[in-house]
Amino acid sequence: MSMFESRVALHWRILAGLLLGIVAGLLINAFWTDETWASMGVFNIEAFLGSGEATLKGNAAGGANEYADFTAKAARFVRHANEFVGDLFMLGLKFIAVPIVLFSLAAGVASLNDTAKLGRIGGKTILTYLITTAVAISIGLLAANIVKPGKYVPEETRTKLEAQYKASADEKVSGANEQRARTTWDIALDIFPSNPFKSMAEGKTLQVVVVGLLVGMALTLMPTKESDPLVQWFQGMTNVVIKIVELILIFAPIAVFALIVKVVADLGMEVLGSLVVYCLTVVGGLAIMMFVVYPLVVRLMTPITYGRFFKAISPAQLLAFSSASSGATMPVTMECVEKRLGVSEDVTSFVIPVGATINMDGTALYQGVAAVFIAQMFNMDLSIVQQLTIVLTATLASIGTAAVPGVGIVMLVIVLEAVKIPIEGIAVILGVDRVLDMCRTSCNVTGDCMVAAIVGSSEKELKTPEELAVAMAKPLDEHPPL
Ligand code: ASP
Repeated sequence: MSMFESRVALHWRILAGLLLGIVAGLLINAFWTDETWASMGVFNIEAFLGSGEATLKGNAAGGANEYADFTAKAARFVRHANEFVGDLFMLGLKFIAVPIVLFSLAAGVASLNDTAKLGRIGGKTILTYLITTAVAISIGLLAANIVKPGKYVPEETRTKLEAQYKASADEKVSGANEQRARTTWDIALDIFPSNPFKSMAEGKTLQVVVVGLLVGMALTLMPTKESDPLVQWFQGMTNVVIKIVELILIFAPIAVFALIVKVVADLGMEVLGSLVVYCLTVVGGLAIMMFVVYPLVVRLMTPITYGRFFKAISPAQLLAFSSASSGATMPVTMECVEKRLGVSEDVTSFVIPVGATINMDGTALYQGVAAVFIAQMFNMDLSIVQQLTIVLTATLASIGTAAVPGVGIVMLVIVLEAVKIPIEGIAVILGVDRVLDMCRTSCNVTGDCMVAAIVGSSEKELKTPEELAVAMAKPLDEHPPL
């Protein structure tokens, strides 16, 4: 066993990091408030949770001051160290995203040597993405219409939250205005790169997908003698990048801990309490999607069992939950789908990057619930035509949602405006957005994995559990025998 291996499976280690992080975050949230520290006559700890510097309260004297100074420094150090670990891990994932898409897609398409098959995979993928997104919003709408979460928010809570989050809500609305200024034609045109190096430097995933596809297709049109060394090079680089992902993943449990501590410590428990029915409706809808709809489709359309599906993709799900970014999670999603679920590289390298960019079932479901919730709060009854408009706009909005934290709520503005629901409602739900973002991102990533599984299976490009066991037994070792 090399220094990089552990006896405990990766998903358990990540889960442990997540749970410990939640506990630590809750403790900080509960005990390290201004009041607690002030009452101890020590110092103002707001810096630990916020962005300022820890300052002495001034009411502590003599030795207490020294102690306070030391504690403030220690708290500051821990906070910065914690952020550093989380940010470093996210940088590592972003670092890997562009190369993994480019190399694996170029190598995959070139070795596929079959453009008709490529078109078929593309068609199946996009169609399944659209159908599952529409299903997700319908579940969201249904849940919100049955539970009626908007009726559980008293008028005064609504007004209070509206006032409290007005400034950040205005920011989201202006973000949506920028998005709205782009026509559908602009968005479609934006898939095609004018400069491949710029696309890569700016990390535009769909454009990098197009570059990878073009390079791969060009390679298939060249004489084998010329293309072979290049295909081998792309394949070799893909393997290099995959090894880097495996290395980065070793630190995932610690990084997940660091990411989650900050989110939970910052949580506004009061806001969470007053919007609990709304939150539960969103989380319930996402759970139906993740634990009923997806596994059912996988069960019906592939030989993969419930247990095998979740065991394979859980590292990606947990990472999506803690980072709230399906874009940053993408390299890990690819690794899980190819290496742990057994879908071929050709299918994975196309389905996952495209899915990470356009397939946002969780976001669409969330937008459905949020739209109905806000309408209910303002005592608006939504007609069937309005609800169908929500299905359509939320499908399009979720496609346009960038795979980074917090964009789903910006695109929600467009959905609300389409059916004339007051956009001030955004301010009410902003305080709990991060937690719901984590949940919906996990659902987004699960949806991508599900589509990869069914496309892989329909193309007969799925390993059997036996073949997988052999592949997974290979350790991450230095210079394994050829
Ligand atoms: N954070 C989500 C994602 O990356 C997008 C969103 O709904 O805000 O998938």
